[in-house]
Amino acid sequence: MSRRLISIVVPCYNEEPTLPILYPELNKVAAEMPDYDFEYVFINDGSKDKTHEMLKNMAAEDERVKYISFSRNFGKEAALLAGLKNAKGDLVATMDADMQDPPALLPKLVSYVESGEYDNAATRRITRKGEPVIRSFFARTFYKLMRHMTDIDIVDGARDYRVMSRPMVESVIALEEYNRFSKGIFAWVGYETKWVEFENVERSAGETKWSFWKLLRYSIEGIVSFSNTPIHLASYMGLGLTGVSALALVFVIVRALLFGDEVAGWPSLVCIITFMGGVQLFVMGIMGQYISKTYLEVKRRPHYIIKDTNCEDSERNG
Ligand code: UDP
Ligand code: MG
Repeated sequence: MSRRLISIVVPCYNEEPTLPILYPELNKVAAEMPDYDFEYVFINDGSKDKTHEMLKNMAAEDERVKYISFSRNFGKEAALLAGLKNAKGDLVATMDADMQDPPALLPKLVSYVESGEYDNAATRRITRKGEPVIRSFFARTFYKLMRHMTDIDIVDGARDYRVMSRPMVESVIALEEYNRFSKGIFAWVGYETKWVEFENVERSAGETKWSFWKLLRYSIEGIVSFSNTPIHLASYMGLGLTGVSALALVFVIVRALLFGDEVAGWPSLVCIITFMGGVQLFVMGIMGQYISKTYLEVKRRPHYIIKDTNCEDSERNG
């Protein structure tokens, strides 16, 4: 049997401080698995530091190193997609650059997929140690909401660190949607998943690229991409309020007929008007979310643009 190839896909955005830590670790893991060939696919997602130069130097000395540099920052999801599309491996691993996804777990993940029992082995953190409390709280709430609102199972604490078989990779890249939410996509394609748990590890160096607002946007993206519940909620709310106001109208008419008209009550009127205005704006906002997603989808723009790469036959506009 010919030797099997493992591709390790690593999205990098301003990872100059972490790459010199990650790369030797990857080599160490590769040395522990002598039965396999390795390739590292680094995606430079429009970094503003020396990440690109660093990758080029690594590639000059080590033919296992492949790099893909984007023309600007397209986001981690686009970087992952580019990596998966260009990875040649029989098995493909995706991993963060900052060592929060411990490379040392790789042999274990690979063995689960190679056993033939699972199509992919994924990881989840069982603790959120070292993370701001508020952030953990919102993250937990998000996963709970997600589970209620979609028919796919998105696991709390799931990371984008996993090893996939070639068929699963092909399925993931076959989903061409523009608004990519990987955690949802991995769950949506199905296949047998083995969950491997580990304790949270803090970033080795550099800073997190996720601000609170970026995370909030990301979670709205996740919900809107995989659930129609919010837009149904809008119709239910509209329906409910119409019913209530119809009843109230009957009540007011009957009362006026029986007891005559009362003049008082403008504060309550203002409250009701404000309330209705708020509900309408909220509902329009929900519809807007879906419309804007649709707008981006129908434009069929590429997910990313490659400025420079050493991958053979890669599509420049992917
Ligand atoms: N990343 C990326 N593009 C971005 C933001 C992040 O490619 O626009 C990469 C980043 O280099 C890292 C991974 O995504 O390898 C996770 O980012 P980070 O560690 O900042 O996120 P956190 O672990 O704090 O959630
Ligand atoms: Mg990180």
